[in-house]
Amino acid sequence: MASVAYFRFYAELNDFLPPAKKQVTFACFFSGSPAVKDLIESLGIPHTEVDLILVNGESVDFSCRISGGEQVSVYPVFESLDISAILQVRPEPLREPRFILDTHLGRLASYLRMLGFDALYRNDYTDQALAEISANEHRILLTRDRGLLKRSLVTHGYLIRYQHPRQQLEEVISRFDLYNLVKPFSRCMQCNGLLDRVSLQEVRSRVPKRVRENCTQFSRCQGCSQVYWKGTHYQEMVNFIEGLFENNSRGNNNQWRHRQENI
Ligand SMILES: [Zn+2]
Repeated sequence: MASVAYFRFYAELNDFLPPAKKQVTFACFFSGSPAVKDLIESLGIPHTEVDLILVNGESVDFSCRISGGEQVSVYPVFESLDISAILQVRPEPLREPRFILDTHLGRLASYLRMLGFDALYRNDYTDQALAEISANEHRILLTRDRGLLKRSLVTHGYLIRYQHPRQQLEEVISRFDLYNLVKPFSRCMQCNGLLDRVSLQEVRSRVPKRVRENCTQFSRCQGCSQVYWKGTHYQEMVNFIEGLFENNSRGNNNQWRHRQENI
């Protein structure tokens, strides 16, 4: 015999629901006594998007069984509200945000690296590999594939809503509140390796004569040995990053300017 529970989803979790179920309480029919996680996913919401579940006003974790008649409120990851007093369904938040990106997000990976974030990306990772690496290395899985986030192995993931890489970058920075963690030009955009400051002598043979005459600061990737200097693209990237901060009221532009001086 079918049972019924009453669900209400909050804030951007409504993105995943059909119009008739957005921003309202609706009935969900089921049989047996499934875990609340399974019911939420059956309604189309990846569990990685969920941070707090209340059943009849009490906070519960994903394994809570629903048997019928309950009122279930489901909330997304909060950035600004302090809900630490109530139980969060996810394990401890990841202390240092590290990412792995699916095969369609190459440009976003480069942008994240440009801002100094650890962003693992290869264009030949399988879905299984992405899920395993995310779990084993505690990396947040970024993807536009809802199905990938439904894999139970994935505990930290985020569904990218935007299509344009620049907007995707703003989305990630804002969603994970990364503004204060930006360390521009500290990581290789090609391979995700960290950059070391090196002297001109160490890289002289790999730098064009024109650059040797005009640039004084050089870095080299620990991973692929690519050499970087403040060339013509540098100012474009600085403008790009400044734009990112200006678009966001929470971004502290003075802080970024200060940090820029230390690059
Ligand atoms: Zn590299």
